[in-house]
Amino acid sequence: MIQLNDKSFDVFIQEKEILKEISDLANRINTDYKGQEVTFIAILNGAFMFAADLLKSITIPCEISFVKVSSYHGTVSTGRVDELIGLNTDLENKHVIILEDIVDTGITIDKIITLLGSESLKSVKVCTLLYKPASFLGKKAPDYVGFSIPNAFVVGYGLDYDEKGRNFREIYQLKED
Ligand code: 5GP
Ligand code: MG
Repeated sequence: MIQLNDKSFDVFIQEKEILKEISDLANRINTDYKGQEVTFIAILNGAFMFAADLLKSITIPCEISFVKVSSYHGTVSTGRVDELIGLNTDLENKHVIILEDIVDTGITIDKIITLLGSESLKSVKVCTLLYKPASFLGKKAPDYVGFSIPNAFVVGYGLDYDEKGRNFREIYQLKED
C-alpha cells in the first residue's frame, strides 16, 4: 500500500506485467508498420514513462515528439482556447501514433487529433497503456490498448494524484474506504 497526500492506493498492475504488455504493444506496431516510418506524439506529463519503455522495443524507423495540451484565454469571445505546445516536427503526410497514459472519456484524444491537423496526416492512431471503456464518450477509440480497466482512479508509472506518484514502477488503484 502507498499513501499520497490524503489517499491510500493498493498495487493494481505489477511492473513485470506492465513491461510485458508494453513489449507486446511494440511488437504489434513493428508488424503493422513494417516497411514504413512512424512519428510518435507522446502526451505530457503522464505518458513520459510509457513512451520511454515502448520506444526501447520499437525497431522500425521512428521519430518522437513530446507535446502538452495547454488552455489559455484567447481573444475570441468563447474564452478558453486549446493549443498544442512542444510540437517540433512537421507531420504533413506522416504516419502518426499518439501515445497516452490513459484514455478515460476520450475528450483529450479528440482534442489532440483536431489540434494536430489530422487532415494533413497520412494516418493517425492512438496507443494507450490504460483504457477505461465504461467511461468512453469520444469519437476516436484507442487502436492499441495495454490494459482495459474498470472505472477506478489509478496512479503510478507516470500517472499522478495531485502531481504525486508518477515515479512508481507499478500501477496503483485508489483504495475505497
Ligand atoms: P479523458 O480526456 O480521456 O477523459 O482523460 C484523459 C486524462 O485524464 C488522462 O490523460 C489523465 O491525465 C486523466 N485521467 C483519467 N483517468 C485517470 C486516472 O485513473 N488516474 C490519473 N492519474 N489520471 C487520469
Ligand atoms: Mg494524460
